[in-house]
Amino acid sequence: MKGDMYIARSPDKETADKAECGGAVTALLKFALESKKVEAVVAVKARDGNRYDGVAVVITDPKDLIETAGSLHCASPNIARFLKEYLDGAFNSKIAVVAKPCDAKAIIELAKRNQIKLDNLLIIGLNCTGTLPSAKAKSLFKEQFEVEPADVVGEDIEGNELIIRLKDGSEKKKDLAELEEKGYGRRENCRRCETNIPVMADIACGKWGTTDKDSTFIELCSDKGADFFEAAIEGGAIKVDQPSGNAVESRKKKDQAAVESAQKWQEKDFATLEEMSAEEKFSYWSEQFSHCIKCYGCRDACPICYCEVCFLEAERGFIPPGEVPPHMLFPMVRITHVMDSCVNCGQCQDACAMDIPISRLIFMLSKKIGAIFKHEPGMDVTALPPLRTVTDQELGQEGVEVTF
Ligand SMILES: Cc1cc2nc3c(=O)[nH]c(=O)nc-3n(C[C@H](O)[C@H](O)[C@H](O)COP(=O)(O)OP(=O)(O)OC[C@H]3O[C@@H](n4cnc5c(N)ncnc54)[C@H](O)[C@@H]3O)c2cc1C
Ligand code: SF4
Ligand code: SF4
Ligand code: SF4
Repeated sequence: MKGDMYIARSPDKETADKAECGGAVTALLKFALESKKVEAVVAVKARDGNRYDGVAVVITDPKDLIETAGSLHCASPNIARFLKEYLDGAFNSKIAVVAKPCDAKAIIELAKRNQIKLDNLLIIGLNCTGTLPSAKAKSLFKEQFEVEPADVVGEDIEGNELIIRLKDGSEKKKDLAELEEKGYGRRENCRRCETNIPVMADIACGKWGTTDKDSTFIELCSDKGADFFEAAIEGGAIKVDQPSGNAVESRKKKDQAAVESAQKWQEKDFATLEEMSAEEKFSYWSEQFSHCIKCYGCRDACPICYCEVCFLEAERGFIPPGEVPPHMLFPMVRITHVMDSCVNCGQCQDACAMDIPISRLIFMLSKKIGAIFKHEPGMDVTALPPLRTVTDQELGQEGVEVTF
């Protein structure tokens, strides 16, 4: 039932060997297809075997799932956007999807906007404490670990260390905080990410709480996830044990440590901005956005942006056409349209050709709004975005104008 926890692994040796932590996730995806509970699976695989180029793929033949087993730490494909754009938001088929917490949160936000049909989705969540930007990861491996990127076959973040595994079976580790001080390490949004266990998914899977490399800790987070997982046990698709009290405690402690680390990064990221006067802030952001080339990359990548005809298009008559950098209304419109729902996925900043720290700004505003309205984007599909939700009490106040 919902809330139950397990230690799980695949009964199939080939899957367990190729997988990251015993292959429970691949086994569940396989069961979902074979039992016809879903018509397709969305997972991530290394394109042409290149682990620095992880892409979302649609799989319908259970035999092909083996290609997706394993964790790619240098890839952050935009899974929510992929589901919405290329799979009609799961309105026409039942789909199982793997999702890191930011992917799962973006899926929830899209479902709130009726862009994804949650009833048709089975979200298999993966715990996560960070992904590395692909190009920078190669420089990191070359310059700091002094290894050829092609020789790296696996990465892991464990406590404060980044560990890499090499072709010859050896491992190298370095202090993650030190690497990040030098400008290497995780994507900026990952450093400040406080959602490391995807409890908004149907099932949350991760290595925390396990004592070996061959099993995964599972938490059943919804009734749908629990029914599915129990059917997989009954069908012999997965082997399970009960986690010990120590295992549950250890997972909790690792999560708490990751949250504390993220909060420190948030303080650091936001401190300089917070200390500025209003004029200084305006001048700082005006300078940043003076580099904008109006490529629309940030909008097109953002899983929260979904309007059919965007306000930023010239035909809406809002933003003066033909200007680069665009009028300040351009970033202002984008920011105000998503700042109550930003899930800190960092896709906008990754897409920005001019390295403008947009995700930092929007997430900072999102945290402020969240604190006022007691709202955390991506956690609960029934919690509507605060800037579009007006309580009866607010509507009843005199002298307050509310326009929709
Ligand atoms: C980037 C990343 C960071 C992680 N960090 C932690 C952590 O800090 N703590 C923790 O407890 N667990 C973490 N995990 C989860 C852990 O590594 C295992 O994925 C989990 O225990 C399941 O193991 P498995 O053998 O059952 O998975 P497998 O059977 O190997 O299946 C792994 C699944 O992950 C998908 N996948 C691989 N890379 C990505 C990606 N970049 N984005 C989305 N999906 C992907 C694959 O498509 C596959 O379906 C992380 C996973 C990833 C992908
Ligand atoms: S934002 Fe969070 S969930 Fe997403 S990749 Fe980074 S650490 Fe993982
Ligand atoms: S604004 Fe950026 S960080 Fe926030 S949800 Fe959109 S793409 Fe993700
Ligand atoms: S991605 Fe960057 S350069 Fe492109 S429109 Fe957005 S802010 Fe401007």
